[in-house]
Amino acid sequence: MFGSVLDSLIEVTGNSERDALVQSLVATLCELLNAQEGAVYWLAAGKSGSEARLTVSVRREKEKLVFVPIQDAPAILVSSDDDFAHCLETGDFTSSLAQVPGLMRYVHPLFGRDRVEGFFEVMGPEYEEGNEKLVTGFLQVFRNYVRILDESERDTLTGLLNRRTFDRNIGHLLSQARMNAAMDDAQGKSRREDIRAQSRWLAVLDVDHFKRVNDKFGHIYGDEVLILLAGIMRKVFRERDKLFRFGGEEFVAALEPTDAQGARTVLERLRETVASYEFPQVGQVTISIGYVRISSQDVPATVVGHADEALYYAKQHGRNQVCSYEALVSENKIAPAAAMNVDVDLF
Ligand code: GH3
Ligand code: MG
Ligand code: MG
Repeated sequence: MFGSVLDSLIEVTGNSERDALVQSLVATLCELLNAQEGAVYWLAAGKSGSEARLTVSVRREKEKLVFVPIQDAPAILVSSDDDFAHCLETGDFTSSLAQVPGLMRYVHPLFGRDRVEGFFEVMGPEYEEGNEKLVTGFLQVFRNYVRILDESERDTLTGLLNRRTFDRNIGHLLSQARMNAAMDDAQGKSRREDIRAQSRWLAVLDVDHFKRVNDKFGHIYGDEVLILLAGIMRKVFRERDKLFRFGGEEFVAALEPTDAQGARTVLERLRETVASYEFPQVGQVTISIGYVRISSQDVPATVVGHADEALYYAKQHGRNQVCSYEALVSENKIAPAAAMNVDVDLF
């Protein structure tokens, strides 16, 4: 038994991405507990109180564990679920009879007693002696690992994701764009429809005349501007948009699928919010933004390169503005990139 637990633990912590880590944690524990179902929920503040939001769900089908897609799963109001409510209130694990006859439902807090951030839920046979300790121990190791992972993914000044994480994520974003395009092709959608449809966007933003802020007020105030700016970004963008500090006073936002108008609106809102914000001591600070649609044919260097070109244009034409690469190309304001993203597969 111990050997297999150790193997599982190695398997769980061998994952590099947090989402994959959570998935394999749930699957591993369900396997060890011989459970029928398992899930992880994270807590979030909802309109009527704390909500549990499902992020990973596995189910046993014909002896095999399968991941259940969780798109559009409704959030569960914690106060409407006795086990969740008890677990949140006490920080303790709880159990009850599951709705399926003969099965138990167990709810463990993620992570500590002092601060419950979510729940691990298991539906399965009654725990054997030691199972509760096993799960608790597993979740502790998992928590420590996630903390280290989180720290290594983030920039220490602003708390946003760092450049290294961007480099590791961009390939994934592009492959998602390719997958969507393949699905659209399979469904017989035309290119025109594809263009109008929702896509992901990548925006590069840079503080205008930031050197002056440092020169006039000193580095500490400059740093303060970057921290506050990161805070504004968190507020303006949606929870699922990915925000990075790319380096210095340059940031990148990778937007979840939205249409051209949606992307423009959120970026304009960011620009305006920053421009009208009164930074302590420093006063007004503006930013310039260049952005581009992430298309299925892109490679990482082209996406960032195109957004950068649009940013450069914004800088050259007065700063404090948002420029779209696509629009600049179609208005002949910048030349389209040469044969970098050819349509044919060279390999
Ligand atoms: P532009 O509008 O053209 O972007 O002008 P700029 O002055 O912002 O020009 P540039 O991007 O070349 O300068 C960036 C400056 O940002 C250089 C450096 O002094 C400052 N900087 C970079 N990283 C940090 C940081 O972590 N903290 C602080 N306080 N300043 C930084
Ligand atoms: Mg700058
Ligand atoms: Mg810069």
